Amino acid sequence: MKALTLTPEWAFAVCYLDKKIENRTWNAPIKIINQRLVIHAGKTVGGHQKKVIEAIDDVVECAKTDGWTSTVAIDRSNHARRANTYRLEKDGRVVMFGEELLSKGGIVAIVTVKGSFEPKRKEMPPWGMEGNKHWYLDNVCVLDEMVEARGYQGLWNVSDEKLRAVALQIGEDKVKFSGFVESKDPILCESCNGLPTRRDRGKLTYTGGKFLCSNCCLPSEEEEEKIVRNRMHAASMVGSAIAYIL
Ligand SMILES: [Zn+2]
Repeated sequence: MKALTLTPEWAFAVCYLDKKIENRTWNAPIKIINQRLVIHAGKTVGGHQKKVIEAIDDVVECAKTDGWTSTVAIDRSNHARRANTYRLEKDGRVVMFGEELLSKGGIVAIVTVKGSFEPKRKEMPPWGMEGNKHWYLDNVCVLDEMVEARGYQGLWNVSDEKLRAVALQIGEDKVKFSGFVESKDPILCESCNGLPTRRDRGKLTYTGGKFLCSNCCLPSEEEEEKIVRNRMHAASMVGSAIAYIL
């Protein structure tokens, strides 16, 4: 099973702040679309480029695009390395977020990669950063306890030993030892809440900022023209068949 290492603050956002978009410079490889992916929290807040305080503030700013409001719960802004602790609120939910509250150096969640592409500027979703490929995450399953593991760059393979520890918490059916696993949690259409149709071949189409099944996707003008043309062709075929019988 493949894993992706995020810095601890972004891994936290995936787990607790509804961050459904992972911004990357590269598209998710096609073979991990619709597959489960392990989310690993790295050791260093902000990676090696950012100060802790900036890294925490970046997440808070991004959370605002998703409707979270923030207040500073504990102010350590005069301290050189420690960031503030925030109280984030959305739809009656309260999440405390700060450097000490982050899991570091281990597996924290398993998600499904729903799709991956760069959206149009007008369709920038919450948590989306312009100029990036967006990996759409779904079915986020957060572990009660972090499973310690070292992280790597890019997509990496999780050892069966670590996966066993993960499976103990979330069940064997969500974990595949060696190789890829089709998601057991079906991906649903964001309009009708239904499963992808047979025509979709298990994959939804991203259109107008939503993942939709083919029943909910309005065909484009060009496609509609084609459908009409096909229908007329079919009708003329029927006509000539009837003429032949007669
Ligand atoms: Zn639908």
